[in-house]
Amino acid sequence: MASIRENLAAVRERVEAASRRAGRDPRSVLLLAVCKKQPAAAIREAYEAGQRHFAENQVQEFEQKRAGLDLPHAEWHLIGHLQSNKARRAATLFQVIETVDSIRLARRLNDAARDLDAVRLRVMIEVKLSAEPSKEGCSEQELPELAAGTRELANLELVGLMTVPPFTADPEGARPYFRRLWEWNERLGLSVLSMGMSHDFEVAIEEGSTIVRVGTAIFGERGTGPE
Ligand SMILES: *Cc1c(COP(=O)(O)O)cnc(C)c1O
Repeated sequence: MASIRENLAAVRERVEAASRRAGRDPRSVLLLAVCKKQPAAAIREAYEAGQRHFAENQVQEFEQKRAGLDLPHAEWHLIGHLQSNKARRAATLFQVIETVDSIRLARRLNDAARDLDAVRLRVMIEVKLSAEPSKEGCSEQELPELAAGTRELANLELVGLMTVPPFTADPEGARPYFRRLWEWNERLGLSVLSMGMSHDFEVAIEEGSTIVRVGTAIFGERGTGPE
């Protein structure tokens, strides 16, 4: 089995190749290592291989795991659904919250950031572009109002949009969703686009992604919980 270091190198190469194919500067794409359900040792291995940007999908899981981690230069993104009542904890743990989906949550995060004296907490809006009931995110109908409302909050910095398209075995199935999110980003004057996972990040880069969230291609299959 390939090591995490080898997997990371291979993913970075694929990110660079996809960027060049799309006529983009590879440095315009941030590789986020999604380490949910991975043990601290695996995260440390990725850090030692030079990875600095990581993502978790649960506040509680990360709270438990990070006690055993000492990664001074790591930046953490939250990429899972966040309940308003956990906003305060999330604001202390993560540098970027990618999953704002309501004005209520945005306000809670703003209050938390203000109390923490954080300059401004970077946030993104998760957009639900398909009808699946299992998906999180704000609808396209709600998006302009939520973006405007979030921008009014002094302690948040709205940087961009994030989405998880419906899964299709063929990664090409995700392309129309990626394109649509890019169009929304342009329309709203935003610059950061978080889209693309292990099986479709190359398509996402071709469609303008600036953050790819890659888990299994780096760490292998996920376990059942933190260790
Ligand atoms: C788990 C997860 C990922 C990573 O998925 P892989 O298929 O393992 O690369 C990306 N984004 C979100 C929102 C996730 O929950």
